Parts: sequence; structure tokens; C-alpha cells
Amino acid sequence: MDFGPHLDYVLTMLNRTARLNAILLTSLLALVCGSCTSEPASAESETDPARAEYAIAIHGGAGVISRSVDESTRGRYEESLKNALELGKKMLEEGASALDVVEQVVRKLEDDPLFNAGKGAVFTHEGGHELDASIMDGRQLACGAISGVTTVKNPITLARHVMENSRHVLFAGPGAEKYADTAGVERVENDYFHTEKRRKQWQDLRSRREAAKETSTVGAVVLDKMGNLAAGTSTGGMTDKRFGRIGDSPVVGAGTYANNRTVAISCTGSGEEFIRNVVAHDISALMEYKGLSVVEAAEEVVHRKLKKGDGGVIAVSKSGEIAMVFNSEGMFRGAADSSGRFEVKIWD
Ligand code: ASP
Repeated sequence: MDFGPHLDYVLTMLNRTARLNAILLTSLLALVCGSCTSEPASAESETDPARAEYAIAIHGGAGVISRSVDESTRGRYEESLKNALELGKKMLEEGASALDVVEQVVRKLEDDPLFNAGKGAVFTHEGGHELDASIMDGRQLACGAISGVTTVKNPITLARHVMENSRHVLFAGPGAEKYADTAGVERVENDYFHTEKRRKQWQDLRSRREAAKETSTVGAVVLDKMGNLAAGTSTGGMTDKRFGRIGDSPVVGAGTYANNRTVAISCTGSGEEFIRNVVAHDISALMEYKGLSVVEAAEEVVHRKLKKGDGGVIAVSKSGEIAMVFNSEGMFRGAADSSGRFEVKIWD
């Protein structure tokens, strides 16, 4: 008897079954792995031995910061950045959450009249102050923002209330102030924000004696011991701004972004350019989809997408790597982490 054709048939069937099994097994594995990665990023620390225990970066704005600035002015900026960084580092060492650290550090910078956020905000065209801020929690992409407020002492705190206690993301103008009252967030008269330095800057700009200088927006990005990321930015915007102009600082994805899967970012510079280029999210996307490191992604966007002089970014990745990249003359900035790094800088 000739078994040839039967044998061929049996072998073909066996082959098919084996292939089917392999396909089934691969699909099953893909399903299991897929559900691991599609869950919201965990609030707990990943077991990544390369991850820094914690890391923080802050900025106090980017722009035309003359290297010939006098020693005492330079010293005051450095001292203030150092104090804010120390506060953040201490809180992180004690186990505070990234969100708490971002809020407290940004508040401290808002209260310092040196910076263009809270007390010390720049003047609008009409001679008042309108403030913007946003905050983002990298755990579940929760975010909150406010824009054009004139009486909220610490805009970052109100932004956090919006994120945590409302079902919305962004409140503007009088509505945001009404919300501040319901949330019990402190309000002040608009002239609380005035400083002589900013008045002079505004008058110089209006009389065209000088172009707008550094604007000193503030921001913080943090990785905490639990492996969570958060970012926040606060600003008075641009000197002599008009008609309810809003920049990138309260625009999530442009001026601020945090995602536990990738990075936390805060931007400073020409808000319109940061909005057009969706800078903060673009950096995160380059990391997530192209596998770039935080430094590579930040450099790609700041040096190759933005124009020279537009500003800069601070970023901390999920593994605690810090990037502070700018294309302006300087950027007030500081960085600290669990390995002992602690530095404050203005220029390259
Ligand atoms: N980005 C801010 C704005 O355009 C200003 C700044 O960062 O200095 O409102």
C-alpha cells in the first residue's frame, strides 16, 4: 500500500495545527503584555534599579539675561532659586508627593517679587496684572489651569483646586476668581502684585527705550519617591500684553505637561511659539513614540523646532533624568536629585 499521499496530508495538518497554536500563543502573550502597558501608570514605584529615588528641576524664566548683570542682582536670583530648590529637596527626602512639591515650590517662587509670577508679575498694557498657571499630575493625566486672574495671590494653588475639585480643566478671568472664593483660595488687591522693577520695565518698553527683557515665569518638575511625576508653571505673562492675551503657561500640552509614562515638563519663553509647537507634549511624544531620551527630545524641540531666542524647558523623566535646555541667552534654573546633585545656574 502507498502511504505517501496520506502521510503528506497528515504532515500538512500537523503543520497547520502547530502554526495555529503558535499564533494563538502569541496573541495570548500580546494580550497579557498589552494589558500590562495599557493600565494607567501606577502610583507605586516601578522596580527600576536605574531610577533616581527622586529628582526636581525648577526655572525662573528664560530670556535676555545680560551676563553683565551686577553681582548683587545675580546673587539674589541664585539665592532665591537655591531656597526653592532646597525646599523641594527636603520635601522629597521626607517622602512628599510630586504634586505637593510642585505646588509648594512654585508658591515660594510666586511669593518672591523677583519673579514674574504672583508678587512681581509684569504689567499689562492697561497697567494692571493678569496671571496664568497650570499644574499636571503624571499619574492619571489630571490637570488644572487658570488664566487672566487679577486677584489670586497664588495662582498655582487655584490651578490645583481646579484639577482636584472641579470637573473642568481651565477657568478664566472672573469665573476663576469666583471659583477661588468657593475653594477658599486667598485673594488680594491687584496692586499687591506691583513692583517698581516691573513698572520700570513696562514704561521702558512702552517708550521704546528697551525691548522686553527676561520675563521670569516660574515652573517646577518633580519625580517623587513613589515614582510619580508632576509639573507646574505660573506667570504674569508678557510685559504690556493686551486684551486678555493668554500665553502657553496655562495651556496644558504647550507650557506644562506630566505623564508617568514619560516625563514632566515646564516651559518658559515666547508663549505663542510654545503654543504653536505644542512644546511640552511634543517632548513627551518624542520619548514615547520614538524612544528618545529626555535630553534628546528636549534638544530636538528647543533647538530644531523653536527659533533662537524663543525660550527653554525644564524636564524630568520617569527615571529621574533631568534636562534643562534653552535657546535664549539665559534661563534661571536649578536641579537636584537623590544622588546628591544640587545646582543653580543662569547661563550655559
Ligand atoms: N511663556 C510665558 C508667556 O508667554 C512667558 C514666559 O515664560 O516668560 O506668557
